Amino acid sequence: MSFYDLWQQQQWEHLALTINATTEAEVRQALASPRLDWRGFMALVSPAAAPYLESMATRSKALTRQRFGNTMGLYVPLYLSNLCANECDYCGFAMSNRIKRHTLTDDELGREMDAIKAMGFDAILLVTGEHQTKVGMDYFRRVLPKIKARFSTVMMEVQPLQAQHYRELRQLGLDAVMVYQESYHRSTYARHHLRGNKQDFRYRLETPDRLGEAGVDKIGIGALFGLANWRVEAAMVALHLDYLQRRYWRSRYSVSFPRLRPCTGGVEPVSPLGERELLQLICALRLFGPELELSLSTRESASFRDHVMTLGPTTMSAGSSTRPGGYADTSEDLAQFSIDDARSPKRVASAIEAAGLTPVWKDWDRALTGH
Ligand code: SF4
Repeated sequence: MSFYDLWQQQQWEHLALTINATTEAEVRQALASPRLDWRGFMALVSPAAAPYLESMATRSKALTRQRFGNTMGLYVPLYLSNLCANECDYCGFAMSNRIKRHTLTDDELGREMDAIKAMGFDAILLVTGEHQTKVGMDYFRRVLPKIKARFSTVMMEVQPLQAQHYRELRQLGLDAVMVYQESYHRSTYARHHLRGNKQDFRYRLETPDRLGEAGVDKIGIGALFGLANWRVEAAMVALHLDYLQRRYWRSRYSVSFPRLRPCTGGVEPVSPLGERELLQLICALRLFGPELELSLSTRESASFRDHVMTLGPTTMSAGSSTRPGGYADTSEDLAQFSIDDARSPKRVASAIEAAGLTPVWKDWDRALTGH
């Protein structure tokens, strides 16, 4: 049994109809319940919930502050490589794109870490394209101990791996793995993933199960909102979370909200997720999972991040470069996608303070528990 079995029992069109048919009375009922269930979550991401955004935000803010205090965790992505053996039609690293490919050497990695440390970060997200042979376990085994020696929280966003490999990386200091399904709608998934291992929908969908089995401390999931009906994608993310939390209850969970914008790599969103809807989704997730970490990246604008940072998110990236070597050398090519909030980490930290929160450069949970 894995999440794949539960996923197979869902009917996408039926979920879409259920969400769209939600009444305001059902939204009010969901808002009044002390703990939101999956049906209630679907009501809160429905069009009928749009007029209730303010009360959703008020509750979401209160729950977030109650669980996480007045803090905001800060992290930075470190792009190790832009090699990729997949063809995702929305991504600048897709294998057919004629860009310069590069994987950081040990010296370059050292310089990147120096530059990142100088910005003040202690939590780092390692990102690669997905190239199993050239940037696979041998590479991770080599670089992870070096990185762990300098950062207290090390997260990874790389190709899906086997459970035994996650176990091994945990021993080397890995704290968290992010693996986004991109789309839970199978034919949409097939349409956008044209070559490579990533075409295996089921293997990707079962990755969080393997992470749970391997006992990885924090598991991040999400979808690339906009590829298919975002409300149903959100319902599938919530279902996935609920399943994982019950089954692998020792792990913590986080959700991110990458969204497809018009003209991202030429792929138009079929179901655009605007900023108001994104806030609705963030608040619905907070009400569904008061203990969830919710992460807001620099792909969102500075004004949006400033506006919503107190209402639900618990971690933010800052000063991000999506280019291997982009912190030590700031020229422009090789990037995966452009970022929107280009403020320096210092300026983001000031904005966080101005909103009444304390920026936390170290993983707050470890800082509190002393592990
Ligand atoms: S989204 Fe990931 S797997 Fe797909 S082309 Fe980009 S880097 Fe490769």
